[in-house]
Amino acid sequence: MIYLDNSATTALCDAAKKKIAECLDCYGNPSSRHTLGLDSKKLVDEARVSVALSLGLKRGDAQSIIFTSCGTEANNLAILGSAYAKDKRRANKIITTNSEHPSVENVMQRLERDGFDVVRLSTRGGELDVEKFEQEMDSSVLFVSVMAVNNETGACYDVKKLFAEAKRRNPDVITHCDAVQGYLKLDICPQKMGADLYSVSAHKIHGPKGVGALYISPDMVKTKKIIPYIIGGGQESGFRSGTENLLGIVGFGAAAREGFENFSQNREKLISLRKLCEEEVTRAGAVVNTPCGERAPHIVSIRLPKIKSETMLNFLSAKGICVSAGSACSSHSQSVSGTLVDFGLARDEADSTIRVSLGIYNTEEDIKTFGAVLKDGIDMLVRFKRLY
Ligand code: PLP
Repeated sequence: MIYLDNSATTALCDAAKKKIAECLDCYGNPSSRHTLGLDSKKLVDEARVSVALSLGLKRGDAQSIIFTSCGTEANNLAILGSAYAKDKRRANKIITTNSEHPSVENVMQRLERDGFDVVRLSTRGGELDVEKFEQEMDSSVLFVSVMAVNNETGACYDVKKLFAEAKRRNPDVITHCDAVQGYLKLDICPQKMGADLYSVSAHKIHGPKGVGALYISPDMVKTKKIIPYIIGGGQESGFRSGTENLLGIVGFGAAAREGFENFSQNREKLISLRKLCEEEVTRAGAVVNTPCGERAPHIVSIRLPKIKSETMLNFLSAKGICVSAGSACSSHSQSVSGTLVDFGLARDEADSTIRVSLGIYNTEEDIKTFGAVLKDGIDMLVRFKRLY
């Protein structure tokens, strides 16, 4: 089996497996005051430091990391938490993009129904519509939410520049970045980016599923610009109640530490695999949907010659190769990806696009085999189409 769907999820790394195995018998509740509870709390705090360091924070700033159940929940907490913390009559506008993940876009739709004015910037060709941003960015803006890396196209948006301009025009504005696909893939971190809120997820970096984190800047906490929406026993500094997912959190900490320590070599490996993949794809007769500007090291969006992505997906799957059509998260809906259309593809082109996402466990051999099978698939399916 060749797994090329690492943007959907990744395999657990050995460090995460080892740490989870070591903690299997740690059943104390981190909120309990007895020894078992304190032992669990220590494990959660250690993991919090590892995640903080992986985000370029200092050990002493680890309290800014709030563990959540996933990247989706981190995005929900960031957006709903800050939208409802403020009197919406004072600042009612939210700026985001046309190609956010559903865990941002669907929350924006809820806010629109609740009376917020949501402005979406186009991301045509993989670039933010800066002109529209400049027209819209004024004192009525409550919140700017822009992802670091697009999960379907691999486009990297210049979030740092956008956030700096947003703060210059309106120092009160709240900045949020969904960094789930950029985490440990790009050299980015919340403080350098100027993000007040920054979402990440463990299972995209070889940690376990069911755990994520939101960075909340100390200023957001001090000025009470964010409120929790999961309310209960006050865990996670009151921002996310509920007994912590201890095994998930320790696994996340281990994966974060490992990913951070090996960041440069992992990134180099992914870039070299991406280059090889793009060559193979071109040789096979498909086209890479290349975003302008910086690209994620691990995502290759591939346009097939008049073959539906679903058909190719099944062909590849039957040969033991796992890729996805557009993005795994939108695969529940039958409609064509809005992100790809906004990127500039015609609907039929978007319908013929597959996504390969590379991981550190992939080899050059994997990519070459994929290239050969893709070529066979294209030749066969195009011939089949001509016949019928
Ligand atoms: N944001 C982006 C850009 C993603 O790609 C994903 C998952 O694919 C998420 C958020 C959601 O993360 P999770 O699966 O941890 O909920």
